Amino acid sequence: MSRAVDPSRMSDDCIFCSIVAGDIPARTVHETDEVIAFLDANPLARGHTLVIPKAHAKHIGDLNETASGALFAAVTELTPRIQSAVDADGANVGINDGEAAGQEVPHAHVHIIPRFEGDGGAPIHAVGGKRPNLSDDELDEVATAVTAAIDG
Ligand code: AMP
Ligand code: ZN
Repeated sequence: MSRAVDPSRMSDDCIFCSIVAGDIPARTVHETDEVIAFLDANPLARGHTLVIPKAHAKHIGDLNETASGALFAAVTELTPRIQSAVDADGANVGINDGEAAGQEVPHAHVHIIPRFEGDGGAPIHAVGGKRPNLSDDELDEVATAVTAAIDG
């Protein structure tokens, strides 16, 4: 069922905005004013759920404080409940941020992927490419650059 959404919070041609607007059906499992969670249509595991901010933003870093607070509060609340619903032994929680990281839908979303003993999957470390071999000096340089980017 379609519902009115503030146009300034939506992007045309965004499939997840269409889910928020009720124009595309989804198996919604949780909804608040700020976020909605629904089952992934092509699940990696039973219970694979996506949690999204209702307001359109492509990157996780584009979210304002209200949206990011609501998003991560929902992820925190939902992760153990989803695990319990499908009797999982654990979960991977992750974000593909940007095309280089595998983001296909340009509306920020968090994957909650229940995991089961012996399911043949891998830890989140498996998403990385070839590991860099960084010296102590290079690690120090990276830490300095990141600190400067965060603290200005
Ligand atoms: P990502 O690569 O992180 O952008 O993942 C996008 C995810 O959205 C994939 O796991 C898709 O299976 C899922 N997805 C795409 N369209 C829909 C939809 N209409 N309803 C539910 N999940 C979807
Ligand atoms: Zn969107």
